[in-house]
Amino acid sequence: MPTAIWWNDERARSGPLGGSAERAASCPVRRVDRASTNGPHPRSALDCAFAGGTEMVDPEVFKQRAAELIGVGHFCFSRGWLPATSGNLSARLDASRIAITVSGRHKGELDASGIMAMDVEGRILTEGCRPSAETELHLMLYRRDPSIGAVLHTHSVNATVLSRLAGDALTLSDYEVLKALPGIETHETRLALPIFANDQDIGRLALEVERALARTPDLPGYLIAGHGLYTWGSNVADARRRIEAFEFLLECETLTRSIIR
Ligand SMILES: [Zn+2]
Repeated sequence: MPTAIWWNDERARSGPLGGSAERAASCPVRRVDRASTNGPHPRSALDCAFAGGTEMVDPEVFKQRAAELIGVGHFCFSRGWLPATSGNLSARLDASRIAITVSGRHKGELDASGIMAMDVEGRILTEGCRPSAETELHLMLYRRDPSIGAVLHTHSVNATVLSRLAGDALTLSDYEVLKALPGIETHETRLALPIFANDQDIGRLALEVERALARTPDLPGYLIAGHGLYTWGSNVADARRRIEAFEFLLECETLTRSIIR
């Protein structure tokens, strides 16, 4: 089981990061596992610093990533892409740890208590918090590609509807906005966005996505049928730009299909 060490901001600022013996001795050291994380949330995740092994996560980095995730959560909710506490958002803290939204939090009301830390192997580093059931879909991406700095998952109407109609892949072509996606330099592009069957077994779904990524490493995102969109980027701003591009393209496809019919 993983170990979480946390302390308040004042204490975290009192010395260099890196886990001094004094700090470790003066802070609660608690063992946390998935089964014990349904309790009350800490008063604020930003009041905590984290340890996943011997090297501490910089609390300033955590604060910055959390603020970015809160911002993108509010933005996506305001656009109707994250209804009813759905979706999940994450950002890399360092090579082995991420910040991610706490399960069940309303993204339009997201605040610091709705962001937690965990490592890419799935160990929870913020006591009292439980991540989304879909967390493995984030972790798999961070493990396989160190250049990924953020993963965003939305449940928009357009992603939900189109993913039920388009078969195994949704083809996006001849849109100028395709150029907002990595590696695309002309509208004369055909992007086949894969659609995976929805599956409550997230480990199995993550394996399926990983196999697709092994075949197509440059894939910028994917859909889950009747569910939503996953995309990622080098940081939160980059991933947000991709979410905006995809959601724009999906809306265009929905409108086009509704007019043609
Ligand atoms: Zn979802």
